[in-house]
Amino acid sequence: APTTLDAAWLRDHPLPVHADVDKNSRGRVVLVGGSTLVPGGLRLTAEAALQSGAGKVQLALPEMLAIPLGVLLPEAGMLALPADEDGEIAGTGPVMELISRCDCLAIGPAMGSVAAAGRILDDLLPRATACSVILDAAAVAAGHDRMNLLRELRGRLILTPHAGEMAALTGRDPESLTENRAHVLLRLAEELGAVVMLKGETTMLANPGGELAVYGGGGVGLATGGSGDVLTGIIAGLSARGLDNWQAACWGVWLHGEAGRRLAERHGPMGFLARQLPAETPSLMRGI
Ligand code: AMP
Ligand code: MG
Repeated sequence: APTTLDAAWLRDHPLPVHADVDKNSRGRVVLVGGSTLVPGGLRLTAEAALQSGAGKVQLALPEMLAIPLGVLLPEAGMLALPADEDGEIAGTGPVMELISRCDCLAIGPAMGSVAAAGRILDDLLPRATACSVILDAAAVAAGHDRMNLLRELRGRLILTPHAGEMAALTGRDPESLTENRAHVLLRLAEELGAVVMLKGETTMLANPGGELAVYGGGGVGLATGGSGDVLTGIIAGLSARGLDNWQAACWGVWLHGEAGRRLAERHGPMGFLARQLPAETPSLMRGI
């Protein structure tokens, strides 16, 4: 039976303590994503990574977004990438340097194009030889034609799809996924050597060792634009801080859900914004 993620589980899997470290040794996150379709989405991911304790966050994004986002998010570094006529990332050249010095690389949040995400995977994954790698949104769907590339990341990969993205990755229809989710997740986790989740009203996670976990406490207010971008950032921050990928994913799902629960208690079950979620994480972490 799956483990239910709760405070007791988190206490048994504590966060690393960082005493006397500088920002580079407290976890460096590189986020590759954004598009003119969702120009501010990557800010959510970046803030979530910072508020879950990452020391340094760098964003690689379409060039026209770099300055506006950089001004909105002065804590983060910006790397302007060439963009195509649809406002999607069209080349990753300078990202190579960053990923050789990062602890966690997340690809996909706030992108609109699976094809553009696929080109990023082709460029970056063969060079991401040491860091943890999170694929989200369009970058999960782009994995469908690149299973061998994903397998190369064995032991370092985390996938964070909702049902539609999981359907695109596996080629299965969303209904059969929901009905067989434990089986599908365990098989994929084993095949790829990855931590894999299926997000939804309840979220289930699997690891290559055959473990399953579930969380369903977040509440319907989390079904809102940008919510998943925040989750990816929390997991990226925790992973960069040195939590192993299974714990980072489980902690991330719990923190994201509890942040939603708290906002719902304070404001009402619906209508809070995804951008309000990251600020809840520091005190939630302290409370464990
Ligand atoms: P995304 O679809 O990528 O924006 O991610 C949405 C996030 O909200 C995921 O973490 C889901 O688990 C969560 N979520 C979506 N719908 C619900 C719901 N009805 N109840 C609770 N959480 C939800
Ligand atoms: Mg999403």
